[in-house]
Amino acid sequence: MQVADTTANTTLKIAAVRFAPSPNGLLHLGHARSALLNWHFARESGARFLLRIEDIDITRARPEFERAILEDLAWLGLDWPKPFRRQSDHFDDYRAALAELRKLGLLYPAFMSRAELANHVRAHEETGRTWPRDPDGAPHYPDVDRGLSEAERTRRMDAGEPHSWRLDMQSALTGLAPHETGTTPLIWQEEGQGPDGEVGQLVADPAAWGDVVLARRDVPASYHLAVTVDDALQAITTVIRGQDLYASTSVHRLLQSLLGLPTPVYRHHSLVRDRSGRKLSKSDGDIALAELRAKGMTPADVITMAGLDERK
Ligand code: GLU
Repeated sequence: MQVADTTANTTLKIAAVRFAPSPNGLLHLGHARSALLNWHFARESGARFLLRIEDIDITRARPEFERAILEDLAWLGLDWPKPFRRQSDHFDDYRAALAELRKLGLLYPAFMSRAELANHVRAHEETGRTWPRDPDGAPHYPDVDRGLSEAERTRRMDAGEPHSWRLDMQSALTGLAPHETGTTPLIWQEEGQGPDGEVGQLVADPAAWGDVVLARRDVPASYHLAVTVDDALQAITTVIRGQDLYASTSVHRLLQSLLGLPTPVYRHHSLVRDRSGRKLSKSDGDIALAELRAKGMTPADVITMAGLDERK
C-alpha cells in the first residue's frame, strides 16, 4: 500500500529566475552580465535558473544564433533544466491571453502601417505641436482605430487588411480592480534599481506607453505579452534584467493585473557600457562573447569584464 506523503506542502513556492535572450544575434558582455546575475542569484537563494529563448520576432530570430547562445552560456559554466522554453513553440498560450483580453473588450485591431503612423505624427508635429512618445521614444498610436465600430473592424479584417492588436490603455486602466485604482495604485517591488535609482515599492505608469501592441501583424504576440505570460507560466518569482527594460515593467504589471497573473519581484541591473557610455548592442557590432572566446579570453575574464567578480 502506498502511503500519501503528508509532508508535501503544495503551497510551497519554489523560487525561479530566468535568462531570456532573443536569438537575433550573438551574445555580448551585456547579456553575460544579465545571465550571470541571474545565475548567482539562483545559486545564493536556492532558486531555479531557467533559460527562455524569446524568438517571437520571426523575421530576425535564427536557429544558428540560438545554437551560439547555448554554446556561450555553457562555456560560461551555466546550465539549466531541459527542455527550455522557446516562445515560438507556444503561440497558443499567447493566443489564449489575447482571447481573454478581447473578451474584456480591451483590444482593438490597429490598421495603420509604420509609415502611415510616421506620416500622421509628422503632419501633427509640423504644426508645431508635440506628439506623445513612449519611454522607448516610439510615438503613441493615434486615436484612429480605437473607436471603429465592430462592423467596420470585421469588414476590414475580413477584407484581409493587415493589422496588429493594441491595448485600449484608457479602458484597461479604468477597468482595474478597485484596490488597484484610486488611492492604491498598481505597484511592484523593485529590489534592484531603476535608471534613476528607483527602489522599493514603485508605482507603475502604463499610460506612458499609450495603446501598446500586444499582437504584431505577423505573430499572435508582442514582447510585452509574451514576457508577461511566460513569466507567469514558468512561475518566475524574481525577474532579473537590465535597466533598459525597466520602463516596460509598467506594462507587464498592468497585464498581470488584467490577466490575473502573479507579480514577481523585479531586480533591474545596471548595463555594461562602452567607453563613451553607450549601452552595448548587437546591432552596433559590439564584441560578441564568441569573439572574446576566440581571442583566448577565459570565462573568468568575461565575468570580470561583465562587472562581476569571481567571489561568487
Ligand atoms: N528578450 C529580451 C532581450 O533580449 C529580454 C526580456 C526580459 O528579460 O524581460 O532583451
